[in-house]
Amino acid sequence: GLLVVGDVVTDVVARHAEPLAPHTDTAARIAVLPGGAGANVACWAARCGARVRLLARAGADSADWHRAALLAAGVEPALRVDPELPTAVVVALVDAAAERTLVTDSGAAFRLGPEDWDEDLLDGSPGGHAGGGAVGRVHLSGYLFFCAPGRELATAVRKAALARGIPVSVDPASAGFLRGLGTEAFLDAVRGVDLLLPNAAEAALLSGRDEPAAAAAELSARIGGGTVVVTLGAGGALAAEAGAVTVRSAAPRAAAVDSTGAGDAFTGALLAARLAGADLAAALDAGCLAGARAVTVAGGRPPLSHDAPHTVVSAA
Ligand code: ADP
Repeated sequence: GLLVVGDVVTDVVARHAEPLAPHTDTAARIAVLPGGAGANVACWAARCGARVRLLARAGADSADWHRAALLAAGVEPALRVDPELPTAVVVALVDAAAERTLVTDSGAAFRLGPEDWDEDLLDGSPGGHAGGGAVGRVHLSGYLFFCAPGRELATAVRKAALARGIPVSVDPASAGFLRGLGTEAFLDAVRGVDLLLPNAAEAALLSGRDEPAAAAAELSARIGGGTVVVTLGAGGALAAEAGAVTVRSAAPRAAAVDSTGAGDAFTGALLAARLAGADLAAALDAGCLAGARAVTVAGGRPPLSHDAPHTVVSAA
């Protein structure tokens, strides 16, 4: 199974046709959706067949709602309830030209810290499935690194995973946050991870190289030889291992309606594929399939329908 350590967020998406102006009341279609990069990755991995547990922090205001949404998506929630702060909320204002303005309250998400950790999270079978299948991978969602308690937690989790020989992956989450933290501090914090998953903008920022293949190779060397997968939007993805580019995957054609969560879908599907024994090339293909699927649906989570799983993973 997979343990994801990261964030749950309540996404409030307001789509309005008229421009916003002060002291006016603008009509909009408003949707309230469960989200958060960590939770979205967990849901996509579960959708792709992995047994998944999510460690995250929510507020008492909506912890029950988030827990139910995770369970419905097939994820075992390990939600800590903050005694003071509400669940993180991101308000997205989307205008007629699909331009987004985000307003964020990181709330309880930025309090996730070492006191939330418990070795037992690496035991048992994620997803509440009987019959074994202990945690075989850990994924640290990038927002964890942008506050002090989260960085401490990341260190504790990596240490515990390392002691058991469990591979750890990290998704840098946001170029804006990386600039705030400093790229050197981030790279120091993730040195030695098994797998790093930046998008093209994050890879360029972290490596100082604009060309994605060069960025991936450079970053692979910088983290100590681990795998670096750079996602390229409609251009698919590429991977570097031990300092050199080894695999590329094209994105299937998709009629994009909402690019939110493409990277989370990619990551969840890739991790599920690796857990199922797929090689890196097959895992990149699985990621690209899920990423293409994600851009055709609104919001960051996979559709809940129980039609055929959209990615088929074959063991290498
Ligand atoms: P992020 O959402 O983190 O910025 P990307 O935009 O690179 O990441 O998208 C992640 C993955 O989703 C891509 O590698 C690709 O596989 C898929 N994807 C994204 N946009 C499209 C698109 N327009 N058409 C097809 N696949 C896409």
